Amino acid sequence: MSAADANIDAVVIGGGPAGSAAARLLTTWGHDVVVLTTTPDRSRGLAESLPPSTQRVLAEVGVLDAVDGAGFYRSTGNTSCWASRERRVETFGSLGYQIFRPDFDRLLLDRAAAAGADVREGTRVGAVRVADDGVRVDYTLNGRPSSTSAQLVIDCSGRAGVVARRMRKYEPSYRTYAIVGVWRSDDGWELSDETHTVVETFEHGWAWSVPVDRSTRHVGAMVDGTSPRAATGRELEAAYRGEIAKTVEMRRLLAGAGLLRVFACDASLYSSRAYAGPRFLLAGDAASFIDPLSSFGVKKALASAWMAAVTAHTCLLHPDRRPVAVDFFSNWERQVYAASLRHSRDFARQASERHPHPFWAARAGVDVPPQDDMDAPDVRAAFERIKGASSIAFRLADDVRLEKAAVIRDHEIVVEDAFPGIRFFENVDLVKLAHIACQHTRVPDVFDAYCRAQSPAPLPSVIAGLCLLVTKGILQTRA
Ligand SMILES: Cc1cc2nc3c(=O)[nH]c(=O)nc-3n(C[C@H](O)[C@H](O)[C@H](O)COP(=O)(O)OP(=O)(O)OC[C@H]3O[C@@H](n4cnc5c(N)ncnc54)[C@H](O)[C@@H]3O)c2cc1C
Repeated sequence: MSAADANIDAVVIGGGPAGSAAARLLTTWGHDVVVLTTTPDRSRGLAESLPPSTQRVLAEVGVLDAVDGAGFYRSTGNTSCWASRERRVETFGSLGYQIFRPDFDRLLLDRAAAAGADVREGTRVGAVRVADDGVRVDYTLNGRPSSTSAQLVIDCSGRAGVVARRMRKYEPSYRTYAIVGVWRSDDGWELSDETHTVVETFEHGWAWSVPVDRSTRHVGAMVDGTSPRAATGRELEAAYRGEIAKTVEMRRLLAGAGLLRVFACDASLYSSRAYAGPRFLLAGDAASFIDPLSSFGVKKALASAWMAAVTAHTCLLHPDRRPVAVDFFSNWERQVYAASLRHSRDFARQASERHPHPFWAARAGVDVPPQDDMDAPDVRAAFERIKGASSIAFRLADDVRLEKAAVIRDHEIVVEDAFPGIRFFENVDLVKLAHIACQHTRVPDVFDAYCRAQSPAPLPSVIAGLCLLVTKGILQTRA
């Protein structure tokens, strides 16, 4: 360990979106952070779609202006042939980003360094020892062995999972790999909007296409298994062309375009048996990998990094709160993964109806914990009642109990009063909402008062919060 490393608060392994975001946030909040990261291989860099809703978390990380100013190709929506031969066009309310990941990652890593994080590129982390009193991380820097010690480690090493892999739990029915081709056309693309991401199902797989500029698109085929028979060369290209030949939309899109290169990568879904301990946190893809179909991987990685930074900040400042913070973070990761898997299963069910193949049947049959709350019939009934009422009086039930629960305040996890089992719904503070609801007789007034007193929230989330409170017997109503 070098003398300069003696007071390091956190070592972040990996300089992808999760690692850069976690490092930037922790540094901004006053901690000494070292980022250890390998140098990425640009030839295997992916084109990826980020939905417009990513802006919020980019702003939280403090990089929105930089990302907006970087000139990434912007998209107005998606074109989908999912379980259908018809093209469905989804138009976003604002613009999404079509990013070439090596450029995006470079920008975020530079922002982490600019905030004061000690970024050591060209390192490969080997062994990590997590002990009760701190961590020790062994790595090579440009081939030379070195090590560093810190209070805690945040594993953001993605699929490599330097710390995470020993806790990894693969989704057996979602073993998938991607074969990706980079295509160029100087004559445009046969699409009503060339900025769109395109997705298409076929008999035993699905394909996607994301542009990085007007003339270059990445087109991927998602296939069963963990890797193709040949990882490079002519055989891989032949396998790729064989998959694309099974599509209709992609073939039409690529007619006249030239294939520049092909590579393959694992895209299997996984979660973790544990997401954190007093001295380690798994963030981004190190923690779990969600279906690329969602286009939420980077957004999830950034949100996970934000949660990991809040958790690390809390653990570093208040060691007594470590168990609560670790628990809070772990629950968040677990819920995000379950929600995403549920989504993927629902899309697979649609595809399975059109393509009766084991590829889709296995994915459609995946076992996902049921979603509590909004889908339950009693919550739906409360939703209709509240939505339709011109005037409604809420009162707190007489026997309402409060218990202690973890929440985030000012970048820290703290313990506050909560109703048993529910504290927030889609960021709506249910304790605050319940008290505000009792002071009004019209739902729009409750909504306005909540947004004024707390922070602006979408109307459906506020109504859903009221429904949950009514269904759980915390609020009683008189229409
Ligand atoms: C085929 C495919 C298509 C996808 N499409 C989309 C999409 O359209 N939209 C979207 O949002 N997401 C998409 N994703 C998901 C997205 O790529 C990931 O969710 C995202 O990269 C997660 O970011 P991360 O920072 O957690 O991990 P990563 O981006 O994997 O970063 C990990 C970092 O750790 C470093 N590292 C690894 N091992 C070591 C080591 N031993 N020592 C030091 N450093 C190490 C790596 O160099 C890298 O910098 C797609 C994924 C796949 C596979």
